[in-house]
Amino acid sequence: NFTEVPLAPPDAILNLSTLYKADTFVRKVDLGVGAYRDNNGKPWVLPVVRKAETIVFEAQPEHEYLPIGGNKSFTEAASKLLLGSDSRALQDNRVVSFQTISGTGANFLGATFLHRFYPKGTKVLLSNPTWANHKNIFTSAGFEIQDYCYYNPKTLGLDLDGMLTSLRNAPSRSIVVLHACAHNPTGVDPTPEQWKEIANVMQEKNHFPFFDCAYQGFASGDLDRDAFAIRYFVERGFELSIAQSFAKNLGLYGERVGCYHVVAHSAQLAQHVQSQVARASRAIISNPPLYGARIADTVLNSPELLAEWKEHLIAMSGRIMAMRSELRDQLVQLGTPGNWDHIVNQIGMFSFTGLNSNQVEVMKNKHHIYMTSNGRISMAGLSTGNVEYVAQAIDDVVRH
Ligand code: PMP
Repeated sequence: NFTEVPLAPPDAILNLSTLYKADTFVRKVDLGVGAYRDNNGKPWVLPVVRKAETIVFEAQPEHEYLPIGGNKSFTEAASKLLLGSDSRALQDNRVVSFQTISGTGANFLGATFLHRFYPKGTKVLLSNPTWANHKNIFTSAGFEIQDYCYYNPKTLGLDLDGMLTSLRNAPSRSIVVLHACAHNPTGVDPTPEQWKEIANVMQEKNHFPFFDCAYQGFASGDLDRDAFAIRYFVERGFELSIAQSFAKNLGLYGERVGCYHVVAHSAQLAQHVQSQVARASRAIISNPPLYGARIADTVLNSPELLAEWKEHLIAMSGRIMAMRSELRDQLVQLGTPGNWDHIVNQIGMFSFTGLNSNQVEVMKNKHHIYMTSNGRISMAGLSTGNVEYVAQAIDDVVRH
């Protein structure tokens, strides 16, 4: 009975938003949540999504079950978005694509499938640090997890040597979770040259790349550029997995739109994989949900809407990059001790400020600015109206 069930620790992010909501200070700032906000701090429903909703509504679709793999015209378009429409792997019919419950569901479906076919004791390697849910997902699927070096707190950048050493020292044929772009929480991505070195070691060690792609197009504003690492690994001949989310780039957070893709070496192997992923997905969700996938399908398969979406991606990533420059410039103007270039060098939704957990506490208690204890801020929480206030607060906590 339930006397054996201990209380689980509170979720750090959810806890933070409860505290933020309860705070009555007028100039309070929420830099915790990983969701896009416009310059007025409001959620932004993409106009192209509104248009797609009208199209879907007017078509008066049925509510029958989707096939286990999901809405095929959506999953196919999603695979082209990741791999490129001229992808050899797609032409060779060796890509398997399943509709999932957003990126989280894609990670879990992949983890569940792989766990059934990898030998007992296989390690899943996660970057240190990583998205907190990775640990939860891969251990829930039954894997043992291990960290690989990733972030260097001294340079506030990538620890490439440490990463390559970790990958070399891990048991051969480990599964390595890689953030395709806009690494969460650090905002630090490898350069194309560095991805090459990572691929070399992965190939030497026969590691399996498991890409988590939650920010395609949202990071740089360019869908192709943000897919570089994935396409490069496919070209290098890896078999691999990709967990894809449309939460951020289409702003479909709560609609839970995503895909799990596997690139196999041959069409025949892909067929086998397809049949086994289907079994796993049947156990988890049986059939994926209709609504969000219909919206994404409508946008991705209309040249006009696709073009409009690309403009939205430029607008969202552009606003975030502008906030990065603004914050860095303000800190430089204030003469805040330290170098703040990492804020503009990092990419995507988040920035690792370098503030320590004590400084984060002061940000919260004295300045009413909320961020996770590791010093991560969501860039989307900044606006032209609050960036100066945030810079002054950072200046204050760094000096004291
Ligand atoms: N992976 C990473 C690295 C993420 O940052 C996120 C979003 N926080 C996800 C996956 C999945 O999010 P969702 O399930 O909302 O698509």
